[in-house]
Formats: sequence, structure tokens, C-alpha cells
Amino acid sequence: MRYLLLYNPVSGKGKFHKKIDFIKKQFENRNLHLDVYPSKKANDLNEKAYLEAGNYDYLIVSGGDGSINEVINGIMRSEYRPKFAIMPSGTANDSAAILGINKNVRRTLKLIFQDNPVKIDINKINDKYFFYTTAAGVLTKISYDISRRKLKKYGYIAYLTEGAKDLINKYNMKMTIKHDGGTLVNEYILVLGLSAKRVGGMYLTGFTNAKMNDGLLELRLIPYNKKFKTARVLGFFINRGRKNKNHDALVSSRFEISTTNNVVWNVDGERGAKGSVVIKVLKEELDVIASKRAIKQYF
Ligand SMILES: [Mg+2]
Repeated sequence: MRYLLLYNPVSGKGKFHKKIDFIKKQFENRNLHLDVYPSKKANDLNEKAYLEAGNYDYLIVSGGDGSINEVINGIMRSEYRPKFAIMPSGTANDSAAILGINKNVRRTLKLIFQDNPVKIDINKINDKYFFYTTAAGVLTKISYDISRRKLKKYGYIAYLTEGAKDLINKYNMKMTIKHDGGTLVNEYILVLGLSAKRVGGMYLTGFTNAKMNDGLLELRLIPYNKKFKTARVLGFFINRGRKNKNHDALVSSRFEISTTNNVVWNVDGERGAKGSVVIKVLKEELDVIASKRAIKQYF
């Protein structure tokens, strides 16, 4: 078996670098071939994954959600799809958490060596692939607008203060949404799509249809309401996304959303498409390493 470890050297304060000798040794001990590649610039991991996908049995990525999204885009563009594993090292690690993977390298390697991956759905928004989330509206720009410096200095508090500031901004996104069950027309302040129950380090346990191999994505839409804007958004998160009459909940394999050009979509934590989009779920497209617990919960 041939393995390629792709990593982002600046992710997670660059600490992952120190673990590489240990990782190399674990592969050597088992007579397994491992190549290691540190990314050199933005989108480098996407290109590298695309070019090398056919040369390896496994692509392993270490980084935050952004690096993981890049590698997934590279693999999905390739005709040959190697198996996929995550070793989290960034500040935003929703993707890894969903798969039950933590920063314990020894434990993750054990799962990789067991070579028992599960088939997972991959989502697509226009021509870009995503792993676990797409969203638009209030609070959804924070993950990429916030400066790295601020995030390093203040951590989670930085998210909260930026969030509080964004709540006073005006969002009213006129949308027509075609889904498997019909068409919805309304004005929204927040649209949040999740393939599991986690985003921004929060667990939204109210997302009911969170299976990662069912070919479906769950979308929550909070309608614009001048009077109760802040209360509705906060209430949604405080209640961990529990369904209620104040917002719309859709489960579908495909969404065709027509909206205005100023709507910006957050895709796996990064700035993505603008305006009208088609969101598709590609059922069981990738073999991924996950913990037993995550498999039980999401598959
Ligand atoms: Mg699903």
C-alpha cells in the first residue's frame, strides 16, 4: 500500500511538523510506503491531491477544515479515488470531529492501519465540492473574515465578538428554493446546510437527518423578520437547531437556489460561490477513515 500525507505547515501554529518523524517511523515499522508533502501556497493541496490521486492507495491530510476541503476537491476531480483520512491540526476541526478523529496521532494511525474505511457522501455547490457545510447570511462570513492574528490571540472569544457585530448587519436574502419535495419562496437571514450535526465547534443536535451516507443534506432556513431577527438567530443556536415553527427545515438530495448576486456562500468555512447555486449530494462517493463511534452515529 502506498500512502501520501499532505499537510499544511502553518496550520495549528505549525505544531504538526514535530510529529512527522514519529509518523514516518510508524509506516517504516510496518514496511508501508509513505510520502510526505507540505503545502507551499493556497490551493496547493487541491492541485497536489488531484495530480497524485492515481498514485496512492491513501491520501491523508493534516490541517484544518480548509485544507481538508482542498484535498477533497482534488480527489473528486480525479478519475481515480484513493481512500481518504484526516489528521486534524488546525484551529477549525469540524470535519475531523464529525469523523470521530482527534489530535491523537497514535490513535488515528491505528485507525488508518486497520484499513476499514466507510463510504461517505460528498456534496457539491456549483462546481466546488464540500465535505460538511454550506451556509449564507448572518454569522456565516465570520469563519473566513476573521483575521488569523485575532483568532490566534483571542480564540473562541474572537468568534463571539465578531458574531455579535454581525447580528446588527442587515441580511434579507430573497430566495426561491427548489428541492426534492417542492419549491419554497421566502426572504431569509440565514441558510445553514449541514451533512452532520456540527459547525463552528458547536453541536447542533436538532439536525435530525444527519446521516453521511444517505444521499441527503439538511437545510435550515431562518426567515427574515425585522422585529425578532436577533432573537430568532440566537434561539436557533441556543436550541441547537431544534426544529420549530419559526424556521424552515428541508431534507433533499438536491437544492436549486435562485437568489441575488450579493449572497455569498460559506463552503466548509471558506468563501465560496456567490448568488444562485445548485447544491447536490453525491451519494457514497469517497472511502473515508472514521472512528467506530462516528460510524455508529452518522452511517
Ligand atoms: Mg446526509
